[in-house]
Amino acid sequence: MSTKKHIENVIVTIQHPFNWTGALISGLFGFLAGIIVPAVLLFVAYILYLPELPDPEQLEEYQPPLVSRMYSADGVLLAEFAGEKRIWVSINDVSPWFIKALISTEDRRFFSHWGLDPFRILGALFVNIKTRRIAQGGSTITQQLARNLFLSQKKTLTRKIKEALTAIRLEHKYSKYEILELYLNQVYMGRGCYGVEAASRKFFDKPASELGPEEAALIVGGLRAPEYYLRNTKRAQKRRNVVLGLMEKSDFMDDVCHLSPEQYDSLRKIPVVFKEKTKGEGWKAPYFVDFVRRKLAEIYGEDWLYTQGVTIYTTLNYKLNEAVAETLRNRIHQMERRIQVTHHPDDPQYTELVYDSTTGDTVRKWKELNGAVFAIENSTGRIIVMIGGKDFKQSQFNRVTQAVRQPGSAFKPFLYTAAIDNGWQPSDRIDDTPGTWPMEDGKLWRPQNYDHKYLGRITLREALMKSRNLASIRLCEQVGPANVIKYARRMGITTPLDPVLSIAMGSSGVKLWDMVVAYSVFPNLGVKVEPVFIDKIIDRDGTVIYRGQTRREEVLSRGVAYVMTSMLQSVIDHGTGYAARMFGFLHPAGGKTGTTNDYTDAWFVGFTKKYTAGVHISYDDLTPIGEGMTGSRAALPTWTKLMLMLYPHGPTKEDEFDVPYDEVVFLTICRESGLLATQRCPKVREVFLRRNPVPTKYCTLPHTGEDTTSTQKARPVVMPDSVPPANIDQINKKPQRKGGL
Ligand SMILES: [Zn+2]
Repeated sequence: MSTKKHIENVIVTIQHPFNWTGALISGLFGFLAGIIVPAVLLFVAYILYLPELPDPEQLEEYQPPLVSRMYSADGVLLAEFAGEKRIWVSINDVSPWFIKALISTEDRRFFSHWGLDPFRILGALFVNIKTRRIAQGGSTITQQLARNLFLSQKKTLTRKIKEALTAIRLEHKYSKYEILELYLNQVYMGRGCYGVEAASRKFFDKPASELGPEEAALIVGGLRAPEYYLRNTKRAQKRRNVVLGLMEKSDFMDDVCHLSPEQYDSLRKIPVVFKEKTKGEGWKAPYFVDFVRRKLAEIYGEDWLYTQGVTIYTTLNYKLNEAVAETLRNRIHQMERRIQVTHHPDDPQYTELVYDSTTGDTVRKWKELNGAVFAIENSTGRIIVMIGGKDFKQSQFNRVTQAVRQPGSAFKPFLYTAAIDNGWQPSDRIDDTPGTWPMEDGKLWRPQNYDHKYLGRITLREALMKSRNLASIRLCEQVGPANVIKYARRMGITTPLDPVLSIAMGSSGVKLWDMVVAYSVFPNLGVKVEPVFIDKIIDRDGTVIYRGQTRREEVLSRGVAYVMTSMLQSVIDHGTGYAARMFGFLHPAGGKTGTTNDYTDAWFVGFTKKYTAGVHISYDDLTPIGEGMTGSRAALPTWTKLMLMLYPHGPTKEDEFDVPYDEVVFLTICRESGLLATQRCPKVREVFLRRNPVPTKYCTLPHTGEDTTSTQKARPVVMPDSVPPANIDQINKKPQRKGGL
């Protein structure tokens, strides 16, 4: 027998569709039960609001779903957000279990009331008075359906009255059977689904005709507040079991829907599992799409994207994004293989127990290494690449915007920026010698250099270029950790930072997003930009309703930003970032590696004049990514490939960093003394911030073996405009090939 037939049986046995006798009896009972005042109000309201009430026939009109679309900057359709996922279904094609669950839970007297249920209203009134707010609706199925005729979901008393009046009209116009069918097709059931068929397919990947009792109970359980009940599986199960209890007590449709108490008990034990399709199915560049979707939800609300039919033009370079994602996955795969051949498959450090839903067993699996890439255009802040992880289906955690990880030495540029802005020059010297510092717990902190060697007195440029820890800690001691944090903040670091000496080695966690924003301040000559991800949004009528705008803020002087750019160029040209040059990337560029203690995190953040990009690789927990896996070895290769894709041709003059000659000056100095070079001196050209102390005396070192008579000829040299800044720092002509901190 069909579901409809069963329901008709019920209707026949209880009452005919809307009849005035029933209404009168119920109404009378309502009066007797003591709601004379609301009833009078209802009558007055009916006269008053009649012209304002919506036309019930709107419920029958099919409104085609509005689809919002998101495009990349290179014209690729990244995602579609279908509005109301409504799949019309006849009541005959709905499982009787669903009808039973619905009637038992939402409206036990549905077949006997006249749209409103005085018992429910009274009960709700009591609760509302007790809690002093309009929380409990006491709405019948008809009232809930009536609510759908109103555009907004306001909870005002006027609205409640209008809904009640509309419910009465619905009961007058339609049979109980028709109302139920409209309800089954119109009501929001959660997760973007309107109607039971859409919900059934979305939640359980099956048609509504095949819904079992516990599945029906789950959907019905969520009806009151789908996003609240269904978001959390534990809460969903608790609520579902409440519905199962109500079904057990009800004898509605018992001829087809009857189970023993034992059977109900076993149903209650079934865990809630949504067999819905994975989020992001069909999305391209899913981490970016999900990021933009969340941002839009923050501005316009969750439903907006699914209901407005807008077109969103984003800034992402999809082709590039995909190529970089592939590169990142390959690098991660190589690193995982390296770990898997050197560790036992039962090694608790690199494997974990995972529940296998197909077999019901737990199995030991290798932990998943992960990574992220983020790239922006410096002058505009436009996001061109955002890869939040290696596989969105596996993990939707966005490691660009959400992960907070120790940056290691990738934090050092903030220290050196603070130093330069506070009177230091790149040629000033600092001790790279062993040292101990007392810690809060009274013990001594004995930091190490990466290679366990000490270089003695070295210049700031060399200390940053070779990522010397001891020199950096000594510099931090003089500049002051609080001062360093001040600069990191101004440049864009938003996560909590500890004002301790070890901040010089990146001991406080940061986000990749923040690091890329902060590093872009250097090539932007001191200007911080807020990343932009939307070019424009066009509504369904073709009107531009939003335009992405670049917000700029000057956070450093041009001179300080340029001096830092120059020092960070040394890192790539001769220091720990040299591998980029070995891979064939030859454009003027600056950047910094980052490696944390025990190799838990590998970073490379770097920039050209036009772009800034960051790569981070780590396990989501603190598992080491492998001995010797420095930022240079693990993260830099992906960064370099991204740059090679951005710059398929060799460098031109256009690619050189702009030099603010009014704030900086280039001098030829003696490499050993740091004073102005004479003819005997091993010469080096260096950039100086004009407002800081600049060397004015000539070197007097004997430089044994060299001619000491011709000291007069050497003169300070201002670098001419034509000299590319990348060639200025010839401090160390031997490239440092070894990866370092
Ligand atoms: Zn000299």
